Amino acid sequence: MFSTKSLHSFHLSSDVKHLAEINSITDLANMQELTNNGEFIVIGEGSNTIFIDDYMGTLILNKLVGIELTENSDFYNVSVGSGNNWNEFVLWCLSNNINGLENLALIPGTVGACPIQNIGAYGVEVKKFIASVEYVDLKTGKASVLDNQSCNFSYRDSVFKHELKDNVFITKVNFSFAKHWQPQLAYAPLNSLENPTAREIYNKVCEVRTLKLPDPKIVGNAGSFFKNPIVSNEKATKLIAEYTDIPNYEYSQNSKKIAAGWLIEHAGLKGFRLGNVAVHDMQALVLTNKTGNANGSELIELASHVMMKVYDKFGITLEPEVRFVGKHGEVKFSEIDQNVYG
Ligand SMILES: Cc1cc2nc3c(=O)[nH]c(=O)nc-3n(C[C@H](O)[C@H](O)[C@H](O)COP(=O)(O)OP(=O)(O)OC[C@H]3O[C@@H](n4cnc5c(N)ncnc54)[C@H](O)[C@@H]3O)c2cc1C
Repeated sequence: MFSTKSLHSFHLSSDVKHLAEINSITDLANMQELTNNGEFIVIGEGSNTIFIDDYMGTLILNKLVGIELTENSDFYNVSVGSGNNWNEFVLWCLSNNINGLENLALIPGTVGACPIQNIGAYGVEVKKFIASVEYVDLKTGKASVLDNQSCNFSYRDSVFKHELKDNVFITKVNFSFAKHWQPQLAYAPLNSLENPTAREIYNKVCEVRTLKLPDPKIVGNAGSFFKNPIVSNEKATKLIAEYTDIPNYEYSQNSKKIAAGWLIEHAGLKGFRLGNVAVHDMQALVLTNKTGNANGSELIELASHVMMKVYDKFGITLEPEVRFVGKHGEVKFSEIDQNVYG
């Protein structure tokens, strides 16, 4: 058995039975016997994945790197190996005068994971720049390419969490950046910047993120633990009438996105601690492995407590954004046995 503590950013104490590293497409082809006969999970840097128990299958670690750039008169086209680190890729773009990803500065993880939950921050989602995603089906060995439309991107969601969940290994993400760049400054604190360069936006985002979010290298966490809930306009109007300062953003014609961190904070839970785990005291949307010694059951107990308190106060059911891995693979929060984990 191998410890998963350093393989996921929440750093819970749990073990995995087997580990395999993918450094080339040939390594992937050689995995097929294993993937046809045993349990496996693909992982990047584990910043959106929490091992709540020992995992009895094989953890496949992605180390496929490489970047290729081509351009035409209007666009830069960049093809990126899925194992590249996301923030290093953002910096690579900036140093090549390719703008667009600066709002997504400092998001932990790999390039290969970015389409899976359509990562987003400060008013920008990565779907805007993804031309296509290349993957290999781990059961059949077949390589395929999906264009942007076929990825079915939406808020923290894509086809890779549904029809293509579990069996695919994303090998490359192909990006397209318009040479005519428009800064995205709708979200505070970027809206106070005047004619910023992309580098200035990058620096501002880094400054704010560093202040608000715990560094997973120091305090285990997985970023936003819950998604921002989407509620009907009717429900939003009632909430806004009662809580005039509740942050809300139009999501569709009929619905609004409400800030989950605000709900948790106003349910009185900012800084709340339960044994080794806690609600972060600078940003209530983040749960942390406060002492570094937490286990899965404590975390599930805290997450359940947060969900219950928010439901009791606002009538809204929070949904985890993070992904949980149990003994035999990914488990939905609703399927986790509360008698075992909390
Ligand atoms: C401090 C902190 C801040 C964060 N801030 C943000 C934020 O602002 N916005 C945001 O959207 N997210 C944020 N996150 C979440 C996280 O960074 C992203 O979801 C990131 O894309 C995860 O990358 P990863 O390589 O660590 O994925 P992992 O956790 O390793 O994997 C995530 C999921 O994708 C699957 N997967 C990973 N790689 C592949 C592949 N190559 N092929 C097939 N499946 C794969 C895994 O099986 C798993 O289900 C934050 C996390 C932390 C810790």
